[in-house]
Amino acid sequence: MSVAELLAWGIGRLRTSGSEAARLEAELLLARALGVERAVLLAHPEIPVGADAQRSFAADLERRAAGEPLAYIRGFREFYGLAFATDPRGLIPRPETELLVEAAETEIMRRLTGAPRPVGTSPLRVADVGTGSGAIAVSLAVLLRRRGIGPQVEILASDDSPVALELARENAVGHGVADRIEFVALDLLPTRVGRPFEVIVANLPYVPSGEVDRLPVAVSFEPRRALDGGPDGLAIIARLLDRLPDALAAGGLALLEIGADQGEAICRLAGARLPGWPCRVATDLAGHPRLARLERPS
Ligand code: GLN
Repeated sequence: MSVAELLAWGIGRLRTSGSEAARLEAELLLARALGVERAVLLAHPEIPVGADAQRSFAADLERRAAGEPLAYIRGFREFYGLAFATDPRGLIPRPETELLVEAAETEIMRRLTGAPRPVGTSPLRVADVGTGSGAIAVSLAVLLRRRGIGPQVEILASDDSPVALELARENAVGHGVADRIEFVALDLLPTRVGRPFEVIVANLPYVPSGEVDRLPVAVSFEPRRALDGGPDGLAIIARLLDRLPDALAAGGLALLEIGADQGEAICRLAGARLPGWPCRVATDLAGHPRLARLERPS
């Protein structure tokens, strides 16, 4: 069969299974089976496909038709312009989380370049709490390296899942920043923080327990503990808020990803647990509340 024939067949198979992006997904899977870029398929629809590639395409289609996320089948997902290894050890990086990376980068740059930091000043301390696949910490480390200021920032990445942390470490190695990030297996933050963090970022689980099972079937392949945020979705974030007075430096900033309907709830929670700390919510590209900014007064 030719590329075009196989694609038509694959698109049909994925449509029947309910995929909303059947064409794109079939193209990506056939490109994977052939070991080429997707553009090659589009440029050469007439090329005959060998039996081995046909078989592996068919096997991948069945996995996708059974609901498995494309990122787990392909083994990676693009995030912030970088390819991150993805497998069931960690949540697949989501595009909305790029907002968090962008905000963190802006904040770090502002702190490093805004006011003079005398020679000998200790590096800026940043924590990525619940790092999962490492997407946030690794993206930040790569951005800082590109700007030539990697050594001015110390990044700690935590997760209570040892297997997620392995995945995060692999991603750090893959992007050449393993020496820039300290990975620690623990719940939220170290009990004794030492020097407090100036910036804390976190994409913690925030889906209300009762809603986790109602998410698209692909999500059921991901670690539930990375999504389930307790009865109201904010149980784990609330525990982090309680740690902030110890962990965040005066004048420091915490950037927390939240659910689209949690904008008011997060600031109410912060008002109760961190009185006097300003709380602002930024919206994502879809216009939904997505990022809470909590500032510790200096
Ligand atoms: N945005 C994710 C989802 O809806 C949730 C991520 C999270 O809980 N941190 O699948």
